[in-house]
Amino acid sequence: MGVRVRFAPSPTGFFSLGNARTALFNWLFARHEGGEFLLRIEDTDKERSTKEFEEDVIAGLRWIGLDWDGSITRQSERLDLYEKYLRQLVAERKAYHCFCTEEELEAEYQGFLSQGLIPKYSGKCSHLKEEEVQTKLKSGLPSVIRIVMPSKTAVFNDIIRGKIEFKTELFGDIIIAKGFRSPLYNFAAVVDDFEMQVTDVIRGEDHLSNTPKQMIIQEALGFPSVHYAHLPLILGPDRKKLSKRYAAASINDFRREGYIPEAMVNFLALLGWHPERDREVLSRAEIVSEFSLKRVQKASAVYNEEKLNWLNANYLKNMDANKFIEVLKPFVPGEWLLEKDLLHRALPLVRERITKLSEFSGLADYFFSVPEYAKELLIWKEGTLERTTESLREIAESLEKISARQFNKEAVQSALDPLTLKFGRGEVYWPLRAALSGRVASPGPLELTEAFGKTETLSRIMLALEKIKSSESMV
Ligand code: GLU
Repeated sequence: MGVRVRFAPSPTGFFSLGNARTALFNWLFARHEGGEFLLRIEDTDKERSTKEFEEDVIAGLRWIGLDWDGSITRQSERLDLYEKYLRQLVAERKAYHCFCTEEELEAEYQGFLSQGLIPKYSGKCSHLKEEEVQTKLKSGLPSVIRIVMPSKTAVFNDIIRGKIEFKTELFGDIIIAKGFRSPLYNFAAVVDDFEMQVTDVIRGEDHLSNTPKQMIIQEALGFPSVHYAHLPLILGPDRKKLSKRYAAASINDFRREGYIPEAMVNFLALLGWHPERDREVLSRAEIVSEFSLKRVQKASAVYNEEKLNWLNANYLKNMDANKFIEVLKPFVPGEWLLEKDLLHRALPLVRERITKLSEFSGLADYFFSVPEYAKELLIWKEGTLERTTESLREIAESLEKISARQFNKEAVQSALDPLTLKFGRGEVYWPLRAALSGRVASPGPLELTEAFGKTETLSRIMLALEKIKSSESMV
């Protein structure tokens, strides 16, 4: 049997960057090994789990292209299964009902602390006689189910972190369920990992201390052990646990901001893993083919937004134009999409200047409607409106002579060369660029004339001239 891994989010919060990285590494491992990647929603916490969070996870996985094998497993639909195994453990006296109240537990804990010991459950209820347990259960006394924790050293070889040892007696008899139909995380995860035939558990380092507990549960149930790999934490630039201050709460927020999945996958992959020769830009296929848990670092990864922006800008620059327009759709007014031709012409000029798709419309609006601007914008440096008028008139006359079919950068440049000798470069190219874009900063005038074509270029020059003229007649 090949490898089988699972991504097992609890839908108690948005699909965070850290969880997306865990999902990605599981997916990469499975795809590299030709194994299976399963999706399990750990929704046994009824109060905190919501459909909205589950949908956020699913939308995020789809967005970054992490396809899972088979159908989604939901723990809330498998309560019979957990009950079967819980009853088995209780029948075998490997687990027991505990009726201790919170006050009792608190008093016990304080007792341990006052003796300078690490607090844990004393195991009191494990000594209850069977009849006592039945009477208490029948009388409806609230109870939980605890596992009998053996005193041993749990050892495992973490694929990333090497040999790890835990003294299990420090845990005490942990609670594995609140009742036969309310399993807790560690128990449900072990049952499912077994039932789903998971071979490798790849998850965040924050789960490291759950692993020995899960190994004890596995042993009690007679399940074989699995391989473990604990991924390094992701820290913020302040070297503390990554918070919302630095990274959006949900991976889907990155989509809404205009990041693209190729960049996101590339970025996430580098949060803890790196390829040979430390390359930074890698396609999904390259990452899949080179991915190995052996190359995942132990040290924490640090979130670096500039790197994400740089990667995103890089992917946007090199993306096929038709695909670019496809991904751009949610970010621009619907009318723009009807002007495919213009969009294609604006694209190469604008995409050079953006890091996210959401910036596109703000930089491209003058392509789709005549811009508003003050006539003074047309004046180059210390120039005057008269001089600008003169220059724009001559520009129009020169451009008029180029045929519409030959109206490209080179033709425009040769047509304007004589004028630059007469007026100076600034006085030719500045007003032309300003007349076309209506902006202080924009792509260069030659690129703009080519993108607009002859008719639109001339029409905007005329509008600029009229703007100057009408304001003169108002004085
Ligand atoms: N539901 C757990 C979480 O979201 C899964 C941990 C695991 O992969 O075992 O953190």
